[in-house]
Amino acid sequence: MDYDVIIVGGGPAGLSAAVYARRANLKTAVIEKLTFGGIITTTDLIENYLGFPAISGADFGKAIQEHAMKYNPDMIQAEVKLVKDVDGGYEVQTDAGNFTTKTVIVASGAAPKKLGVPGESEYFGRGVSTCATCDGPFFAKKDVAVVGGGDSAVSEGLYLARLVNKIYLIHRRDRLRAEPILQQRFMSLSNVEFVWNSVVTKIEGDKKVNGVIVKNLLTGEEKELKVSAVFIYIGEVPQTGFVDVRKDDHGYIITDENMQTSKPGIFAAGDCRHSLTKQAIISAGEGALAAIAAQMYIEGRLKATQELANPSAPNRHSYGVRLGQTLRAYGKCFVLFAD
Ligand code: NAP
Repeated sequence: MDYDVIIVGGGPAGLSAAVYARRANLKTAVIEKLTFGGIITTTDLIENYLGFPAISGADFGKAIQEHAMKYNPDMIQAEVKLVKDVDGGYEVQTDAGNFTTKTVIVASGAAPKKLGVPGESEYFGRGVSTCATCDGPFFAKKDVAVVGGGDSAVSEGLYLARLVNKIYLIHRRDRLRAEPILQQRFMSLSNVEFVWNSVVTKIEGDKKVNGVIVKNLLTGEEKELKVSAVFIYIGEVPQTGFVDVRKDDHGYIITDENMQTSKPGIFAAGDCRHSLTKQAIISAGEGALAAIAAQMYIEGRLKATQELANPSAPNRHSYGVRLGQTLRAYGKCFVLFAD
């Protein structure tokens, strides 16, 4: 085998796993297709990672990369295409070659979800963006739209509000779902106009974006907003197509409490994993746990998860969590498991 553990993804989950795997003397590779540090490097400001009261996403990404590199894992820039079963482990096939390994930690994160409306693909990079910190400065003193109502829309909207003339916050419901502290800050801004109960039906432009058509879901009325950019934050799609393990309906990988997937020796951690929420600090913890579990698996000390390996077993826990998430959107709720 080329490696004891191959970690797919170089964000907080993957790099944390790398630190723990190397400290356990495991022969380790981290394979990342884009930026070591992960998608969080595109965040303007992180304020909820313990020990860092306020740090930019770029500085945070640099810090976690440097920390992981201190332990000399192999850092491979490549896109993973397939994880294939081979005798005694797995073969990780990439666009830069194939590598064999005893264990795999999938920490491949999630990519921004698309609206799927006319004009979105056409004007991507010409006014349509999913990265305010990358593209926001191009729209200084202009009017822009932000679509979505979660943590990403609001935290990136807070950043944009400092640069642009006006933000139209377009959200399909009449209240935000972002963290209350972020909501309070955002609501107090004077240059934000909320466009509630509305969806974008078209992005218009002439070489670059010059407007959006929004439809009010209560009245059916459509109107045009004149904007120079549209920042889309409507959630994420997990990057898990290359690995055949048990997943939920959205493609998030289901694991047990030790981050073990339905296939022995394949673990998952971070934003690609089915869980209640996605937070960098949680991803880092999951990555650490996955590496410890991988070490125990290699040493023969980790018990296989029978229930996950059986595709017909009822997925009681994940169903409960999904139901809880749905209900949470409409207020407080508790989900109790009776057994
Ligand atoms: P999210 O929490 O899933 O929120 C997506 C938002 O987009 C929701 O408000 C949703 O509306 C809306 N939406 C979904 N599909 C839509 C569609 N097709 N058209 C229009 N609107 C649509 O996604 P996120 O904000 O990107 O965050 C992803 C994860 O990262 C979350 O777990 C989040 O907590 C975490 N995160 C944390 C921080 C932090 O600072 N703590 C920062 C960024 C992200 P509904 O509300 O109606 O469902």
